[in-house]
Amino acid sequence: MNNPNNSYTKFSHLGMAIDPIHVGTGGNRLGRVDSTIVRDPATQIPKIPGSSLAGTYRSYSAMAEGKYPQCAGVGLPQSDGTGGHCGKPDCPICTVYGFARGQEGGFAGLAAFSDAHVLLFPVPTRKGVYWITSPNTMRFFSIEIELSQSAGLYLLDPTNSNSPLNLGWLMLPIMGLKKEVVNKIQEKLQDLKVPDYVIEKVGVVSDDLFAHVVNSNLEVRTSVSINPETGAAEDGALFTYEALPRTTFLYWEIVCKNPNHYRINSKPVSFKQNPQMEDVHYITQKAHPFFEHLGIGGMGTRGMGRIKVLV
Ligand SMILES: [Zn+2]
Repeated sequence: MNNPNNSYTKFSHLGMAIDPIHVGTGGNRLGRVDSTIVRDPATQIPKIPGSSLAGTYRSYSAMAEGKYPQCAGVGLPQSDGTGGHCGKPDCPICTVYGFARGQEGGFAGLAAFSDAHVLLFPVPTRKGVYWITSPNTMRFFSIEIELSQSAGLYLLDPTNSNSPLNLGWLMLPIMGLKKEVVNKIQEKLQDLKVPDYVIEKVGVVSDDLFAHVVNSNLEVRTSVSINPETGAAEDGALFTYEALPRTTFLYWEIVCKNPNHYRINSKPVSFKQNPQMEDVHYITQKAHPFFEHLGIGGMGTRGMGRIKVLV
């Protein structure tokens, strides 16, 4: 997998929300909630777009590398021409995350970020929290799950669960999966460092039900807009927003391109001597402690958005 002649290597990541996570669409005052979350257009399941992830990773890697703020952000120079991305072949931030300007134009960057998808979603039941996933989600890992009927909750461990269980307001009969499928799911979740106490309480529902269950169990919070000049609440400034709840597990991939296949302003990439794809990945990893403390998606000051990266 890590052949140095490959043109790219894919790295898997799993994170657990330790706060509610709100990555907004930017659109306000639409429908029931004022500030909606980004959703996948096909599945209607909330996600964190790769572009948001990349921007957050970039800022935090730049902090870790002492390149903040100049090589973070969108990189546009000030009106006097100073500031902005340095765009140098030895800059770990501009080479890994790209830059918008330079003698030979911009550079897309050596790391590319997928969207972060909901892998396991926590739902309250009368038997405590269960973490729900779906066949479509498990297809990320080439695991095929066939459900004998769409209205059922397929527990990895259905023992001692004869009576139906409620997922929020939805009552579902308990079903079991084939042993080989259960083993595959368990192994994959263990690979991803999902804690055992979570794996024990994983259930699968159909893709349609998954979208319903996720969307009807999001956190909807109400908050007050504060006028930054007076520090007081603004008149009529009560607003609501939705968020992925605590202990949602999110999965994303970072594709790292081979630095030896690229030239920056006709020079080799040189943020370290003879950099490899693992070194590109290492620069992105430096952002992870910041995810756990500063979070993603704005509203950090409201106790939102922190993610603990497990893999
Ligand atoms: Zn730079």
